Amino acid sequence: MTRLLNEPDDFGTEMVAGFAAASGRWVRAVPGGVVRSTTDAEPTVSLVIGGGSGHYPAFAGLVGPGLAHGAAMGDIFASPSARQVHAVAAAADRGRGVLLSYGNYAGDVLNFDAAQDRLRAEGVDCRTVVVTDDVWSAGPHERARRRGIAGDLAVFKVAGAACAAGYDLAGVERVARLAGDRTRSLGVAFDGCTLPGADGPLFTVPDGQMAVGLGIHGEPGIDETAVPSAAGLAELLVTSLLAEVPDGLSASGARVVPILNGLGSVKYEELFVVYGTVHRLLAEAGIEVVDPEVGEFCTSFDMAGASLTLLWLDTDDGELERLWTAPCDTPAFRRGRVSPGTGPQVAAAPQPAAGDPIADAGPESRACGARVAAAVAAVATELYAHADELGRLDRVAGDGDHGIGMDRGARAARGAAADAAGRGAGAGTVLVRAADAWGDRAGGTSGAIWAALLDELGRALGDETAPDARAVADAVRAAQRAVERAGGAAVGDKTMVDALVPFAATLDGRVSAGDDLSTAWAAAADAADDAAEGTRELAARLGRARAHGDRSIGTPDPGAVSLALVVRTAGDRLWGPGPGEPGAPSC
Ligand code: ADP
Ligand code: MG
Repeated sequence: MTRLLNEPDDFGTEMVAGFAAASGRWVRAVPGGVVRSTTDAEPTVSLVIGGGSGHYPAFAGLVGPGLAHGAAMGDIFASPSARQVHAVAAAADRGRGVLLSYGNYAGDVLNFDAAQDRLRAEGVDCRTVVVTDDVWSAGPHERARRRGIAGDLAVFKVAGAACAAGYDLAGVERVARLAGDRTRSLGVAFDGCTLPGADGPLFTVPDGQMAVGLGIHGEPGIDETAVPSAAGLAELLVTSLLAEVPDGLSASGARVVPILNGLGSVKYEELFVVYGTVHRLLAEAGIEVVDPEVGEFCTSFDMAGASLTLLWLDTDDGELERLWTAPCDTPAFRRGRVSPGTGPQVAAAPQPAAGDPIADAGPESRACGARVAAAVAAVATELYAHADELGRLDRVAGDGDHGIGMDRGARAARGAAADAAGRGAGAGTVLVRAADAWGDRAGGTSGAIWAALLDELGRALGDETAPDARAVADAVRAAQRAVERAGGAAVGDKTMVDALVPFAATLDGRVSAGDDLSTAWAAAADAADDAAEGTRELAARLGRARAHGDRSIGTPDPGAVSLALVVRTAGDRLWGPGPGEPGAPSC
């Protein structure tokens, strides 16, 4: 459990501030995370890594000479927002391009991809290598779908060394991909982790049992077995990983880096006991162990567990081994001697502040903006009330954070919407500001999706007039398409799209049939409810729950349930009878 905290809500922010204060030799804080506090003599390609917090030393502990140039730091277990990734990358860029690299989670992919699009639009050459080392999260023929765990270190280290060696962006990308192809991991857990302020663990593993293949956010394991001895665990990890030797290599005679990783509350001493057997078993398989690492490299808050990663080094010219063993100096990972950095890093990109000027709006749209802000506030209240229930639904096959994320996003959106409305914003701008704030604070897949949805809704409605029923139905359709574009989900994948599509279609159909907005919206909200309930029968095919799709059968999709809740609440506030305005027909 987390014993030392102030306000649970502030934990993430305070942790970043403290980390930066303690690590000024290597990093300095910028909006969205940290970048190096030193510069290389010659500009290089910049490696920008990141992900949710709670995995220290991943990711911020790996920023420094010879390794990463910046880390985007999301809230605990929540992907950084696109805005955070963009701001860190813009601060780290030295004009030679940026490689984004991070573990493969749907929320991170959405947010890093959106940041990449924005960087490219600004003329920054930006590429991405996603880490997919967790062998038990998908089969060998679906390697691109695997999660990223402690193998992050192997990919980041190789890429960072290539940056330092002066490789161009294509070269850095090439070796990062090669390292990713050569990295395999498997993790186990004996007990769950408890996030700051939570009154119980995010998940549990039965006493005396060990979850095999459990993800670093508590995504359920694939198997459960009795806790073995240290030697038994070493044997399980080595045997499983040697069952998947990378293409073109064979174990006998191979040069391999083992990384034995503690996940949060396993002692170094225990790890060393396990490592003794790992080392012997690798040697017995004919493997030449190179430069092994034992310690904490990617944790899962206070989870009790361990993982083993193998990085297969062999290349004709020894390139991977050279890059893995090259010197680096970061808060949490150092080796050899690097030449001292000089001078300060480039300045951070300016952040759009809440005080940014508000676009002019027509009087009707301003009145509508105020109603929209009130609806956002009502949604925040409702999501707060349902946060535990949404978390429980997400825990079945996902990671249990859906309620926390929606609550955090909606609360931030409420503040931004109220601020914008208070300064005379029209409906469109209120929604766009709410979208920015939601995406920034919520994190996770649903944070990015809700940011895309609200942003498109705002852009489609605009600030000129109060939208009529047709305009609202069209804007909802546009928002639906934006969600489909951002996440690539279709009806039947068991996501919020399953509720959004019937909602948009019913609204559209009822408005076309001549219903007023209030009636049409209520019917559409019913359709969303029914569809959310209908997801109970489906197996998840996308997102974090995909790895355990079948486990989700019988439980509705949390994102679909929350979408139905949001549209119901927003509709009641927007078009239900307000004080003194019975059945107000439009915005
Ligand atoms: P995370 O999965 O990152 O922990 P949340 O738990 O907040 O994020 O949200 C999970 C919800 O996100 C799922 O229940 C599903 O409705 C939705 N979701 C997941 N992937 C997609 C996608 N590709 N497109 C649309 N919605 C998605
Ligand atoms: Mg989740």
